[in-house]
Amino acid sequence: MADFDYDLFVIGGGSGGVRAARVAAATGARVALAEDSRMGGTCVIRGCVPKKLMVFASEYRETCADARAYGWDVTAGDFDWSRFASQLNAELDRLEGVYRKLLQGSDVEIFDARARLADAHSVTLSDGTTKTAKHILIATGGRPVRPDMPNAHLGMVSDDLFQMTSLPKSMLIVGGGYIACEFACILNGLGVEVTQFYRGAQILRGFDEEARGLIADQMQEGGVDLHLGTDIVEMTPAGGVGVQVKGSNGMDRAYDAVLFATGRAPNTTDMGLEDLGVDIGRRGEIVVDRFSQTAVPSIYAIGDVTNRVNLTPVAIREAMAFVETVFKGTPTPVDHDLIPSAVFTQPEFGTIGLSEEDARDLEPVEIYCTSFRPMRSAFAGRADRVLMKLVVSKATRKILGCHIVAPNAGEMIQLAGIAVKMGATKEDFDRTVAVHPTMSEELVTMKTPVRMA
Ligand code: NDP
Repeated sequence: MADFDYDLFVIGGGSGGVRAARVAAATGARVALAEDSRMGGTCVIRGCVPKKLMVFASEYRETCADARAYGWDVTAGDFDWSRFASQLNAELDRLEGVYRKLLQGSDVEIFDARARLADAHSVTLSDGTTKTAKHILIATGGRPVRPDMPNAHLGMVSDDLFQMTSLPKSMLIVGGGYIACEFACILNGLGVEVTQFYRGAQILRGFDEEARGLIADQMQEGGVDLHLGTDIVEMTPAGGVGVQVKGSNGMDRAYDAVLFATGRAPNTTDMGLEDLGVDIGRRGEIVVDRFSQTAVPSIYAIGDVTNRVNLTPVAIREAMAFVETVFKGTPTPVDHDLIPSAVFTQPEFGTIGLSEEDARDLEPVEIYCTSFRPMRSAFAGRADRVLMKLVVSKATRKILGCHIVAPNAGEMIQLAGIAVKMGATKEDFDRTVAVHPTMSEELVTMKTPVRMA
C-alpha cells in the first residue's frame, strides 16, 4: 500500500463531513478534516439550527395573544433582538464546541484551514502544508448567491441575518423558496414590516399547489406583504440608511434592508477540481455516481456540494453510505426516494412524496383532502386554516404523497413519512384508529375522495 498520511481526508466540517469523518475513524481508519470556517457548517452555524431558534422566538407574540383568549393576563412587550442574539450566539458556540469534541473524541485530526486539491491523493492547506490521503471526501456545502444585477451588494443574504446587530424596521425579501418564505414569516413574527417579491405565479415552486396556495394566503393574512409575479427593476442606496427599490409591479420605496433568498450554489470554486478531472455540472455541483464517487476514483463528494437533495439528513445519509462503501466493503447507494421534509413557514408545511400535479401526470389518482380551522387557534379567534392531503394511486392504493399545512406539520410528517416509506395504502391509513382530538386524526378519517385525476 502506498504510504499516505491518512486513509481519509475530509474537506468541510458540516453535517456530512463531520459524520463521515467520525464514522470512518470508528472503523480504525486514520482520518483528518479541514474546515476554514466554524465547525458545524451551514446547518448548525447559519442554517437549520439558528433558523429554528428564530422560528421559536418569532412565535411568542401570537402565543401571548392567544394566551389572553385562554384567560391569561399577559401582554407581549417589545422583542429585544440583542438579548436574543447573544443567547443565540452562545448556543451556537456551545454546539460548535460539541462538534469539535465529537471529532477529537473520534481521533479525527482537525485542521482549521482551507484545503485545495493538489492531486488525486493530496490536498494543500492554507498554512502551506500538503497532506496525502488514500481517499478524499469533499463536503464543502453551498453558499447563498445574489442575483446578477446592479447594486446587488446592497442586499443581504441569509448568512448575514444571523450577524445583524439590530432588527431592521422594514425588509424586502426577494425569492419564493424555502429560505425566502421561512424568513418572511420569522421576521414578520419578530415585528419587522416584511415585503416579499417572488417572480413566479406562486411561492414554493415544485410543492403541492393546494398547499402552496394555503401557505401564501396565511402568510399574507399574518402580515407578510407578498407580491407574486414581481421582481426588482432597480435598487439604489436610499438617503441615509436603507435601499430604494423599484419593483416590476410599480412599487417604489425604501426598505431598511433587502434580503436576497434567491438560491444557493455549491462551494466548488478555486478547489483545483477541474484540473484533476473531477466533473463539475452546470450549476457548479460536483457530479457523482450513486456511491458518491467522482470521476476521479479516490475522490468522493457528499451533501450540498453535489446538489442532489440539499438537506442535512440527506448529507448524513450520504456520509454513512460513503463509509459503508469505502471503509466497510459494502457498496451502499443512497436512497433519495420518498424523503420527508418540512418548510418552517407559519403555518408550517410537512411533505413527502408526489404533489397532486406530479402524481396525476404519472398515473390515475384519488385525492383526499380536508381544510379546517384547528381548535386551538379557532378558540383564540384566529382565522388560521390547516390542510391535510393524501394523494393515492388508484391502481395500487398506495399513498403517493402526503401534504400537511399545520402547526407542527414537521413533527407530523416525520411519523406519517414512515408509513408512506413502508408503502402504506389508503386502506392501511383507514384501518388506523384516530387519535382524538388532534389535527392529524384527519389523515385517517378522510373517507371520500374530493377529486379523481
Ligand atoms: P430555492 O432554490 O428553494 O429558492 C430560490 C428562490 O429564488 C426561488 O423562488 C427562485 O425563483 C428565486 N430566484 C432565483 N434566482 C432569482 C433571481 N435572479 N431573481 C429573483 N428570484 C430568483 O433556494 P433557497 O435558497 O430558498 O434554499 C436552498 C435550498 O436549501 C433548498 O432547496 C433546500 O434544499 C434547502 N433548505 C431547506 C430548508 C428546510 O428543509 N426547511 C430550509 C432552507 C433551505 P424560481 O422558483 O422562479 O426559480
